[in-house]
Amino acid sequence: MSDLFPPDRLARAQRATAAAGLDALLITPGADLRYLTGYQAMPMERLTCLVVPAGGDPFLVVPLLERPAALASPVAGLGIEVHGWQETEDPFAVAAGGLRDALGGKPAMVALANRMWAEHALALQTATGAEVTLAGRVLRELRMRKSPAEVDALRRAGQAIDRVHRRMGEWLRAGRTEAEVGRDIAEAIVAEGHVRADFTIVGSGPNGASPHHEMSERVIQPGDPVVVDIGGVTPEGYCSDSTRTYVVGGDPDPEFARYYAVLQAAQEAGCAAVRPGVPCEGVDAAARAVIAEAGYGEYFVHRTGHGIGLEVHEEPYLVAGNAEPLAPGMAFSVEPGIYLPGRHGARIEDICVCTEDGVERLNLVSRDLVVLP
Ligand code: ZN
Ligand code: ZN
Repeated sequence: MSDLFPPDRLARAQRATAAAGLDALLITPGADLRYLTGYQAMPMERLTCLVVPAGGDPFLVVPLLERPAALASPVAGLGIEVHGWQETEDPFAVAAGGLRDALGGKPAMVALANRMWAEHALALQTATGAEVTLAGRVLRELRMRKSPAEVDALRRAGQAIDRVHRRMGEWLRAGRTEAEVGRDIAEAIVAEGHVRADFTIVGSGPNGASPHHEMSERVIQPGDPVVVDIGGVTPEGYCSDSTRTYVVGGDPDPEFARYYAVLQAAQEAGCAAVRPGVPCEGVDAAARAVIAEAGYGEYFVHRTGHGIGLEVHEEPYLVAGNAEPLAPGMAFSVEPGIYLPGRHGARIEDICVCTEDGVERLNLVSRDLVVLP
């Protein structure tokens, strides 16, 4: 685990905090805490908070009953103090007091984990008496550029979800409901190496035209295109996310076959545009241009992709208006779609990593249209 969660990460975060002119990061359970410490804490009403002062020693405040779990996590290898607070103590005062001691005075500006619960955020703001901002200002730069160990973890997640797509013919056929197929897929997501399935989209026929349709009791009909967008979390904490669109039990509407070919070319163009220095919006534009030129522009209704790592949706986002340049180590989906309301839809999604000179795709299952019996 030390490769995935290296002990120098806290020091890097501290330097970045100081460079941003902030006094501290306050990080409650979630992907930021796991990124910084390897500790996968349970989000709950009792406060768990990593305090990372711009100077001085970071420390972790946990409910006393969670202290053994914290010490059994990679936190133990970081050499930081783990303070267990008693049920009768005010944990916000404990965190704020420890921060004042570390800084040798009151903080002026602290940064809170972006996904912190509002009740914790407001209590920490009151207890520290500081102005607050988002920790993402500091952590996005670190988290967006994956280390080689993180890319390895994403690669293993990609291989696991690829194995599920390769088995699709076992479950996906006409006469079954989307929900029946989805339950089988969710089981396979776990069986193939995830701790849980995060989402299982099975959008058949007209339901495929709703990009985030999950699944329903609709019975899949012969000739239906079916959008299958699936992902989960591996034991290492990294996410998978891959979409393939299948046709089951007969030939599809001829127009579907026509625009599927357009979509496949668009997804290729998006992936081919990936290299260091290209703005995020450039990948979106490359994929979108192919679809627009074929006359389907109005049916591609979402951004081309999102970053992925410890969270399934994180920065960077591949969307018009995002000029952030791609850099080696950035990992994100390239997932254009075409959706004809009331009829059917298609999406093709791979996770891509920006390399030193181009792109590596982490999903390798064929993108050619698969017609299942
Ligand atoms: Zn997806
Ligand atoms: Zn996605």
